Amino acid sequence: MATNVAPGKLSTDSSQIEAGAGPEISTDWKGLAWLTLLVAGGLFVFEKLKHIFFPGFTPEQHQAITVVLGTIAAVIGSYFQTRKLEKTLLLHAQAEEKLAMERNLFRTVTDNIPDSIFAKNAQGRYIFANKAFATRHGLNNPEDLLGKTVFDLFPKERATPLHADDMKAMRSGESTVETERTAVDAKGKMSVLHTTKFPLIDASNTVVGIVGMHRDITRRKEAEQKLRQSEANLAAAQRIAHFGSLELDLVNLDDPEKEPVRWSDEVFRIFGYDPGTTEATRRGFFQVVHPDDREQVRQTLERALQEAKPYTMDFRIIRPDGMVRNIHERADFVFDPKTQTPLKLVGSIQDVTERVQAEIQLHTANQELAVRVLELQQRSREISLLSEMGSRLQACKDASEAYAQIGNSAEQLFPKWSGELCVTSSSRTAVETVSEWGEANHGERIFTPDDCWALRRGQPHSFHSEEKASACRHIDPAVVDESLCVPLMAQGEALGVLNLQRKRGQEQQAYGLRSWGEAERRLASVLAEQVALALGNLKLRESLRNQSICDPLTGLANRRYMEESLEREFSRANRKKSCLAILMLDLDHFKRFNDTFGHQAGDALLRTLGDLLKRNTRGQDIACRYGGEEFALMLTETNLEGALRRANIVRQQVKQLSVEYAGQLLGSVSVSIGVAICPDHGNTMTDVLRAADQALYSAKREGRDRVSASNVVPVA
Ligand code: GH3
Ligand code: MG
Ligand code: MG
Repeated sequence: MATNVAPGKLSTDSSQIEAGAGPEISTDWKGLAWLTLLVAGGLFVFEKLKHIFFPGFTPEQHQAITVVLGTIAAVIGSYFQTRKLEKTLLLHAQAEEKLAMERNLFRTVTDNIPDSIFAKNAQGRYIFANKAFATRHGLNNPEDLLGKTVFDLFPKERATPLHADDMKAMRSGESTVETERTAVDAKGKMSVLHTTKFPLIDASNTVVGIVGMHRDITRRKEAEQKLRQSEANLAAAQRIAHFGSLELDLVNLDDPEKEPVRWSDEVFRIFGYDPGTTEATRRGFFQVVHPDDREQVRQTLERALQEAKPYTMDFRIIRPDGMVRNIHERADFVFDPKTQTPLKLVGSIQDVTERVQAEIQLHTANQELAVRVLELQQRSREISLLSEMGSRLQACKDASEAYAQIGNSAEQLFPKWSGELCVTSSSRTAVETVSEWGEANHGERIFTPDDCWALRRGQPHSFHSEEKASACRHIDPAVVDESLCVPLMAQGEALGVLNLQRKRGQEQQAYGLRSWGEAERRLASVLAEQVALALGNLKLRESLRNQSICDPLTGLANRRYMEESLEREFSRANRKKSCLAILMLDLDHFKRFNDTFGHQAGDALLRTLGDLLKRNTRGQDIACRYGGEEFALMLTETNLEGALRRANIVRQQVKQLSVEYAGQLLGSVSVSIGVAICPDHGNTMTDVLRAADQALYSAKREGRDRVSASNVVPVA
């Protein structure tokens, strides 16, 4: 009834002022009546007693005294009555003045507040409106509204419900009716109005109208809307970020009635509950925390509460559905500004499971990457070692150099393993160790291809003492713990085998308990492949070189090789001023030999002669088949005398040759030899060769089977 008091009071005040004259006037009439009665009574008593008071007076005199007394009484009464009336009029004037001031005050107040205020009588006609109300309805003067109804202001369809509302409020006599609605003012501006209506009650407590007040709450509504929106946004953000907030009332920490723990909706969701379906308590919190993390969480919290310092902690929770989640919590204290005692702990809880898992994955990926990098570095090192070995093998002049290089590279590629390179002989009946590395190898140095499973099957064969695979026969399983044989295959031919092995006992200490890894197998295969290729190339190169410099029938150097060598030896001899002898040999009557025994027999003779000449050549000397049945011998640092002596020895040996062909002993042959010396018979290869050739013809001319020196009489 508070809101009703003001208008009620206002109404009462004005009625008091109106009625104030009422009681005064009625009291006045009463006074007059009393005065009249008093005068009448006095006159009556005087009339009865006048003969006692004035016995000597005549009736006229008595009448005159009565009139005089009555007049005096009337004058006195009139005097007092007039005084009273004057007083009343003064009071009335004062009341009028006060009322005017109050009205002015009321008008000033109502016209200057932003709220629209109106009052209607029981018929719904405006009996009061303030400026704001008039302005809202497009009028300058509130007086213009007086006597009008809501139907004068609004179209019927809008006015009807408003009027009905007013009537309802009046009828119901409800003290206050509050409504909120959207309204459009005279300028077309839309606003939200909060309307308060209460009945207007007269002195007899009868509802005589209605008083209403519109308050423009558009801004408040907008602010509320914004607040709601921002709260919704915050809640959505918390939900999206799995970010919840919590509060711990430290003042009422031990009073569960006061609910000292408060969780935001998202905290419930993070913990696996629907918001509000479980109690937000410290106990509830610890129940959710993973048992393995509880002690750490408890200690962190206790320390933080003791020290009243901000903290962060990471822990796991187990949700009611059994799911384990990772939580990050951070919190700080709110202090009483005056006493500086901690009042509240406010914090945030974030579900960081995805981040933690991503970190774990990243960590694992990093570790894997580091391993990959190491492997790549290892591969890169291996590739560069292999490539270096390849290029060195290219530069090797012969197989022995290549074997040494292979051993050297294999030792670097397999530092934890001993090993050996075994090569199949050209007859393919034996396999021989040609290079070794690491610790001393155990097993046969020469074995047959059948002793090695890898050579037999043409694929790698590994052996481990703890496995059932059988060891190759060239390996001693009593000593060797692990071994791997990789065949050296080139163009379908097994050129040998690459063997890697580890001795029992000490290796385990040195290298750890490990067996062949896939990477090592692969590397061994690659090494074997490259070694096989290099050895195959070397072999091919050697055979090609042999073909280009050797005569296939006799195995002696051919004429081209001889001439190349002579060029070199001549320049050396000239440089060193040393002698160089050339012996030109031609079989005597070889045509006849061929004709007699056949061409094949002739070839056999040529081969035998080739062997003889090979036996007669020293380190730097060269024997060559010059063409057909002609041969040449180059003897370095040999003078004419020495050359003639050597020529005669060869001639003698040829004569003693016995050549057997197809079980038939062929007849003896002889040879004619021409000898020429650098510098005695020329300084160039051409001159000396020509001189030797001429000497040979001389020997032929002179009867064959002899040695003839250039321009020198042949020695018989
Ligand atoms: P002379 O004593 O004058 O040297 O008589 P000759 O018969 O040896 O002389 P000639 O140069 O006329 O004959 C060379 C013969 O050598 C002719 C050829 O049949 C033979 N001959 C050349 N090359 C070969 C060969 O590779 N194998 C065989 N079986 N005979 C060859
Ligand atoms: Mg000849
Ligand atoms: Mg001949």
